[in-house]
Amino acid sequence: MTDHRHFDGDTLIIASHNKGKVREIGELLAPFGVKTVSAGDLDLPEPVEDGDNFIANAEIKALAAAKAANLPALSDDSGLEVSALDGEPGIYSARWGGPEKDFTLAMTKVNEAIGDKEDRTANFTCALTLAWPDGHTESFEGKVFGNITWPMRGDQGFGYDPFFIPDGFKITFGEMDPTQKHAMSHRADAFKQLIAACFQK
Ligand code: IMP
Repeated sequence: MTDHRHFDGDTLIIASHNKGKVREIGELLAPFGVKTVSAGDLDLPEPVEDGDNFIANAEIKALAAAKAANLPALSDDSGLEVSALDGEPGIYSARWGGPEKDFTLAMTKVNEAIGDKEDRTANFTCALTLAWPDGHTESFEGKVFGNITWPMRGDQGFGYDPFFIPDGFKITFGEMDPTQKHAMSHRADAFKQLIAACFQK
């Protein structure tokens, strides 16, 4: 069995300026009695995400926050990978929303890029990195598979949720109760691994 470093503190920095992610991570960590403070609330600078995969970008964000705040920090780098688009938008998922972070626009662009291709399968991927100020990192990756539907449906969740139907369901993540999404999402999958490795005694 691999040895993982355990989180023993009481405050964890959430290395994200994305309110949707910060909220979901806070909800997922609530049962462990961990106090969370977001990088946005602390006004920590946002590092350049120039890694070429989700884990590389998660490590950049978590290390930057842990060093700036001198506390352990948890980051989430995630995105939507569409099979017919060779995995795009992938690590560029946030950028497809443009400077306004307009995900109605991003979903419209993805749907138009798929066009009349038969394969509408896609997955969300979430990489989580827990980093310490001394530079140590623990990283985990989770996925959820499904299909892109059109038009968008539902106003729960965030980002690309309204046009993604997870396998085995008829409703989009945007229509799903948040507790149900948290039980099965890419973020939940990565979290299960993180909790087992770094939080459970
Ligand atoms: P990041 O901040 O570079 O990791 O951007 C990830 C982007 O992927 C977000 O802005 C969302 O658009 C999208 N994304 C990640 N996770 C989810 C999710 O759970 N639902 C919908 N969209 C997501």
